[in-house]
Amino acid sequence: MATVTYDQATRIYPGSDKPAVDKLDIAIEDGEFLVLVGPSGCGKSTSLRMLAGLEDVDGGAIRIGDRDVTHLPPKDRDIAMVFQNYALYPHMTVADNMGFALKIAGVPKAEIRQKVEDAAKILDLTEYLGRKPKALSGGQRQRVAMGRAIVREPQVFLMDEPLSNLDAKLRVQTRTQIAGLQRRLGITTVYVTHDQVEAMTMGDRVAVLKDGLLQQIDSPRSMYDRPANLFVAGFIGSPAMNLIEVPIADGGVKFGNSVVPVGRDALATAADKGDTTVTVGVRPEHFEIVEQNGAAVAALSKASSDAPAGLAVTVNVVEELGADAYVYGTVEVGGAPKDLVVRVNGRQVPEKGATLHVVPQPGETHVFSTSSGERLAD
Ligand code: ADP
Repeated sequence: MATVTYDQATRIYPGSDKPAVDKLDIAIEDGEFLVLVGPSGCGKSTSLRMLAGLEDVDGGAIRIGDRDVTHLPPKDRDIAMVFQNYALYPHMTVADNMGFALKIAGVPKAEIRQKVEDAAKILDLTEYLGRKPKALSGGQRQRVAMGRAIVREPQVFLMDEPLSNLDAKLRVQTRTQIAGLQRRLGITTVYVTHDQVEAMTMGDRVAVLKDGLLQQIDSPRSMYDRPANLFVAGFIGSPAMNLIEVPIADGGVKFGNSVVPVGRDALATAADKGDTTVTVGVRPEHFEIVEQNGAAVAALSKASSDAPAGLAVTVNVVEELGADAYVYGTVEVGGAPKDLVVRVNGRQVPEKGATLHVVPQPGETHVFSTSSGERLAD
């Protein structure tokens, strides 16, 4: 087991003037499950491949434990990689596939057999050891690929979208299995995915990348509760956080017909930048409905004199999930229509075409600079 350190690690592909990975700084703890996530092309695979030794490092360094591995060949790094396309050898049995790397390394037969049997037990593959890959389900093949990595007892596991070939249901099952397995084995793991749900459910910590730049690294909970900038705010969470540009008002921000209080520090920072608006983030579950079709729902609406409080949302679509429902609607902000998603109680679902008035729940706003995208205070 070991720590993994990216120290200002940079990769610039030949012929490109922009780094694919730009001065990446990440310190991964011994035994930690770290997920690299971000949209396609953000540099996740490149970062992983730099750690694997499959990609040159053009600046900075990468360390595994105390060893500087920046320029070591892959075979000397003590890592094992599970790829998206797990490429099992079709003519070999499961056991031979799992033990192949050990055989190449000259490990005695009896020892290979023992290690393969141990790994098969952990992965629930014992009864399939004599089969060929074509006689396995997708999930079983995926576990064989995991087994191949486990038998090598590496210091670090590297996984590049290992679930992307599985169907949706199997993906959910397998992600729980992999996360559980990693915790049992305690082997430091770096895992790449474009799927933020996968990242949030599997990682001890999640690192969000965009355009080769690290945006935030945090526990899933902190990432959700306190996104560092507009990009992370919009990327983490499903349905995504609502991000609404609103004018700064005395003591808060103008939210339709209401002034919603937000931290003074945030407003002061925005004013220092010369901004007259901020972008307020509200998660779908953090709205309070103060009026529905003209009828007051909560006491809050008493704040209004004539006009109802908050933002008026015209309901376009309601997605019922049982306990809850998501209302997809339109609001008018600054004279332009904008989509908004509100989570409501599944037993009090508004009709299509209805008008809701909503305000954020107290303390559940995220305030970002409209100009720079950065989070302003808490
Ligand atoms: P991700 O895994 O997040 O989808 P990649 O790490 O594969 O992103 O790619 C990051 C950036 O580097 C992209 O702009 C991509 O086009 C570029 N890139 C990736 N591989 C190569 C390569 N072999 N040669 C040149 N550019 C590459």
